[in-house]
Parts: sequence; C-alpha cells; structure tokens
Amino acid sequence: MPEARATEPAAPTNWARNITFSVPKVHRPASLDELRGLIAESPHIRVLGSGHSFNRIADVDADRSGVLLSLAGLPGGIEVDAAARTVRVGGGVRYAELAAELHKHGLALPNMASLPHISVAGSVATGTHGSGVHNRSLAEAVRAIELLTADGGTVTLARGDAGFEGAVVSLGALGVVLSLTLDVEPGFEVAQHVFRELPFQGLDFAAVSSAAYSVSLFTKWRGPHFDQVWVKQRLPEPVEFPWAEPAVEAQHPVPGMSAVHCTEQFGVPGPWHERLPHFRAEFTPSSGDELQSEYLLPREHAVAALHALDAVRERIAPVLQVCEVRTVAADTQWLSPAYGRDTVAFHFTWVADAPRVLPVVSLVEDRLRDFAPRPHWGKVFTAAPDRVAALYPHAAEFAALARRLDPRGTFSNAFVRALLPR
Ligand SMILES: Cc1cc2nc3c(=O)[nH]c(=O)nc-3n(C[C@H](O)[C@H](O)[C@H](O)COP(=O)(O)OP(=O)(O)OC[C@H]3O[C@@H](n4cnc5c(N)ncnc54)[C@H](O)[C@@H]3O)c2cc1C
Repeated sequence: MPEARATEPAAPTNWARNITFSVPKVHRPASLDELRGLIAESPHIRVLGSGHSFNRIADVDADRSGVLLSLAGLPGGIEVDAAARTVRVGGGVRYAELAAELHKHGLALPNMASLPHISVAGSVATGTHGSGVHNRSLAEAVRAIELLTADGGTVTLARGDAGFEGAVVSLGALGVVLSLTLDVEPGFEVAQHVFRELPFQGLDFAAVSSAAYSVSLFTKWRGPHFDQVWVKQRLPEPVEFPWAEPAVEAQHPVPGMSAVHCTEQFGVPGPWHERLPHFRAEFTPSSGDELQSEYLLPREHAVAALHALDAVRERIAPVLQVCEVRTVAADTQWLSPAYGRDTVAFHFTWVADAPRVLPVVSLVEDRLRDFAPRPHWGKVFTAAPDRVAALYPHAAEFAALARRLDPRGTFSNAFVRALLPR
C-alpha cells in the first residue's frame, strides 16, 4: 500500500517511488547459473519486473531475509517463430522491445497496455490489460510458461496442461518466470482518433465501447461527462463515432498536459505497436508522480457504476489526475481480474499523495461494492484481502497450485499470503 516517499536515495523503489522495497539491493544475475546460485542460497525470493506496480506485490517480506532479483541482465531475450506464429520471450523483456522485434517480422500482439515500458512477465503476472470489447487480458496471449522453481529445476506448463490457467496470472508466487511463449498474429495497422466532451447522460455504453477495436474514455470527474474518448480503429475496419466532436489539437489523457509523448492521433494510420499504447515507446519515464487504482467489474454494470461514482465526484476530483474507463473481454486465467466475465474497468490515476488519496480509494470501493469489483493486482487498493479473494472462484485451486510448485513458500510474500492463505 502507498507509503511516504523514500528519503534514502540508494534504497530501491518502484517506478512511482511510493514503495521502498524491504531490501537494500536488487540482485541482477547475469547468467542462469548465477540465478540458480542465488536461489539455492536464499530461503525467500521475489522477482521484480520493471517495477511499475503501486503496491507491495513484488516486495520481499521485511522480516524474512530475502532476495529481490531482476532478470533484466539475463541473456536470451526474444525468439520469433514466424511459421508457428509464436514468440518466446525471456523473463526480463519489456513490451516495447518485444513489439519492435515482432514488427520487424511483420507480426503483432493483439493488444497492449497504455505504457509499452512494462515487462511482459510482470504484466501478465498481474492480469494487465488494454481495452477493447473483444480483447482479452495480455495474459491470454501466453501459450506456455517456463518456471524456475526453488529446487533449481524447471517446470513448463502449456495451454491445456493441468494448472496452466493458474500459472500465468501468478502474482509472482510460483517461481521465477524464465520465459513465456506468446501467440502472435500478422501485423496490422491502427488509426487513432480522439473525441471531446461525451456526456454521461444518455450514454449508450455498449455502442460507444464497441465503436472500434479499442476504446478508452477519460474523465477528470469535474462534471458529468467524459473529457476525451480515444478510439483506436483497426484498419481496414470503418469507424463512426457520432456521439462527440473530434479534437482539433493533439491530446494527452490528462487535459492540459503536453501531448508530445502520446502516440499519433488524427487518424494517421500506423503500425499496431505505435497506436495501441497511449504513450510512445521512445519516451521512457524513469519514474512517475502518481498513484493508480483500478477496479474491474461485470460489463453490464458499466452505466450504474458510472453513476454511482458520479454521485461522489466532488470527493474524487480533487485527488484525481484522470480516470480511464476501458473494456476487457472475459478470460480463462484463474486470477485474472477479467476471469469469466466480460468486463468494464474503472482506472484512476491519482495525485502522488497517499494520505489524501487512500480515503477516496476506500470511498470508490464502497461505491462499487454492489458490482463485485476486482481490484487490479498491481495497483493501490484498500479492500480486505479475504473479500478480494472471495471474488475469484479458483482462489483455492491457485493456492493448491502454489503449494505444489513451491512447497516451502519460497516465492510467496505478505501480499500474496494475506490474499491466499496456503
Ligand atoms: C504508467 C503506468 C501505466 C500502466 N498501464 C496499465 C494498463 O494500461 N493496463 C493495466 O492493466 N495495467 C497498467 N499498469 C499496471 C502495470 O501493468 C502492472 O503493475 C504490471 O504488473 C507492471 O509490470 P512490471 O513488470 O513493472 O511488474 P512489477 O511491478 O515489477 O511486478 C509485478 C508482479 O510480477 C512479478 N514478476 C515480474 N517478473 C517476474 C518474473 N520474471 N518471474 C516471476 N514473477 C515476476 C513480481 O514478483 C510481481 O508479483 C500501468 C502502470 C503504470 C506505472
């Protein structure tokens, strides 16, 4: 959960700097042998991806002597098999590198998150998603996962194997993800259009959210309207958006911020990986002054949830940078927040002020309670862990899978244990 900013500059922190990790150093093994050596010596291990989560999901426990490690220095990055339409990515690879390599081969991923700088393994471990009524979470592209377990052995689980649906959205609790094999598809082009001022009143959410391949609605909750709608048209599909006026200037999702780091707009066609994220890969933010929360609920509640939140917009707006509403198609990963339900996701980029933000996070959770909201695993939430776990029908099976693959709990931590008692 969010904490005061670190005062000791040497201590490792997450990207947003609201979490100072419980160890003074992140180990970066340069070879598989070095990694195996670290695992053999350490009773307690967590792997850090690119550190873009906003809570202690990636941390080691403060009271157990543990090792936090990053795979960013390991060789063995990206192996494309164009004939099989798959790609094998190492556990430290980020989406920006992967997308550039796939594009060179004329291949694509079906979807991306808003930022391309996040690691693939870390993203799928938390159920990260983009938008699109027919687009599932990024974890659904995974067809096989290779884990290094606490005994130094490797386990590969492929789609169709027992336990596979529990292994991808793993919260980092099963072992070190050495590699992931993803399904890819032929490259495609996308044209991005931004529209302004869409009122909540009379909103036909089903029509608006399915107007294009990927649609994101942004509000600052200063009034009963979306300030912007980002419409990502997969070419050659036609797009019509009769509900709002097109923007006349390039937009940043946070109104008033420079759009220079945002992906191209005004319907200029471009490759999938340069349009599906909101932010350009060549702009690499090393840290961010923000906190984030997100709640994923059954899509049929979209309008009711919007009005429930609108009723407290005076509380939300002062601590909000921007709110984004997206859709995610139902998926099959046991711990995915979109598991088994076509989903609407309410995302909040808050100001970087935890004491002011946390009461509003609780208020949002309270307003959404009737809609069975599953919090994003990598973002700030205050809901009691047992309530969160109760929203996942396969939580107990996941705990059993963790006991099987990691019998001593080497890869668990306080965050995971609170949610899913072993
Ligand atoms: C600016 C910004 C934009 C974002 N946009 C989106 C978005 O559009 N959609 C969305 O859904 N989320 C979004 N997120 C949230 C983000 O996708 C998640 O927090 C994601 O987990 C970040 O990946 P990471 O590599 O930084 O993971 P980390 O925070 O480093 O780790 C997350 C989890 O993955 C585990 N892990 C990482 N690598 C490995 C490995 N090799 N083996 C085993 N476990 C591993 C860690 O132990 C931890 O449990 C955004 C976050 C930021 C900061």
